Amino acid sequence: MFEDLSSKLDKAFQSLKGEARITEVNIAETVREIRRALLDADVNYEVARQFTNDVKEQVLGSDVLTSVNPGQQFTKIVHDNLVETFGGEKADIAQAQTPPTVILIAGLQGSGKTTFTGKLARHLKQEHKRNPLLAAADVYRPAAVDQLKTLASSIDVPVYSIEQKDAVRVAKEAVSMAKSLALDTVIIDTAGRLHVDEEMMNEVAEIKEAVNPHEILFVVDSMTGQDAVNTAKEFNERIDYDGVVLTKLDGDTRGGAALSIKTVVNKPIKFVSTGEKLDALSPFYPDRMAQRILGMGDVVSFVEKAQKEFDEKEAEKLQKKIKSDKFDLNDFLEQIQKIKKMGDFGDLVNMIPGASKALDTADIDDDAFKPIEAIILSMTPEERQNPELLNGSRRRRIAKGSGTTVREINQLMKQFDQMKKMMKTMSKMSKAGRALQGLK
Ligand code: GDP
Repeated sequence: MFEDLSSKLDKAFQSLKGEARITEVNIAETVREIRRALLDADVNYEVARQFTNDVKEQVLGSDVLTSVNPGQQFTKIVHDNLVETFGGEKADIAQAQTPPTVILIAGLQGSGKTTFTGKLARHLKQEHKRNPLLAAADVYRPAAVDQLKTLASSIDVPVYSIEQKDAVRVAKEAVSMAKSLALDTVIIDTAGRLHVDEEMMNEVAEIKEAVNPHEILFVVDSMTGQDAVNTAKEFNERIDYDGVVLTKLDGDTRGGAALSIKTVVNKPIKFVSTGEKLDALSPFYPDRMAQRILGMGDVVSFVEKAQKEFDEKEAEKLQKKIKSDKFDLNDFLEQIQKIKKMGDFGDLVNMIPGASKALDTADIDDDAFKPIEAIILSMTPEERQNPELLNGSRRRRIAKGSGTTVREINQLMKQFDQMKKMMKTMSKMSKAGRALQGLK
């Protein structure tokens, strides 16, 4: 899912690689490519236009952080806008104060309503310890009732159905039945048609009126792209549902419906379904979906962590020190301590694009810092500022004090020198990245 969009966005960011700063000129091509990528993904035209305008405005208006490069910063902004486009926060389904909670499922025939009814029952039972009752209100297709019964028996959930073709009655009686059996949730599967028609809408509206559901979920096949968005609009105008369920995302390589629905209909996506099996259902997390599309979720958390740990002014000071060769062991120690605060070392290296390839992280972890810290802490302030003072006898003293060996100290000093050199040449990587590279 979203494969095309992912690779096209990735390509769009490539053109920013190597740029030291963000300017109106150098982002123009990237912005254009993002818009093209969205339109190719069958995203609603207006949504794509608004999205790229917002991104452009935010990119140009953002403070330039020296600890991240323009490509990373751009990615973060696109990420944040994708999250917004997907609805921002994860939206939960309602739960009644006094049970049973009544959930009405609506949508076109073939959208995956009946399958979703079973999946939702399973999800609520397993994840939320709820006891659902399914109501077979798709009364016109005998096969639909049978399908629901088969699904229900596989997850050991009861179904309410009647012989008569009266959907409103099924729904009402199912609610009464749940009350008498002390079941806390009723999920009503309704009849769909191949296209939106009055009769179907009237029936769903009548059921809504009769049972006053706590939650109405509209189920739509995401593979139908912009048709899905139009159907979503029509159903919403008629029954004012609470949330959208996107099905068949496993077959949707473009993702246009997913990216357009929230903006066009202003109702959140609450679940996504990614297969025919009953466990192929997940609550919808806008942030995770955005990260998945960008295939760069790790960069997003890296930027967030870097923003938290590295003060901009301090970063500039450090930059100057590096340039004028004044970066000393005190600074080195400080950087190590900051990196340690940012979290697991291996994870951190993996967050930096390319760094995990350049560094063998398998044998480096937090413990790798301990002897380094001990050695630096055993030096006098003078020695830390002027590492060239470290002659043989001083090194022996430090080895004793830090519980290390002279060989380890020699190694560290060699690494420190290499790191300083590398830092000077690597102006494009983030500060954290530079520090990490130098530790190798
Ligand atoms: P209804 O007419 O709306 O009740 O739709 P159904 O629940 O009968 O689903 C129609 C078809 O789509 C069935 O063959 C389902 O197995 C299939 N289906 C439902 N959800 C998904 C999904 O997320 N992915 C895939 N690949 N197939 C699905």
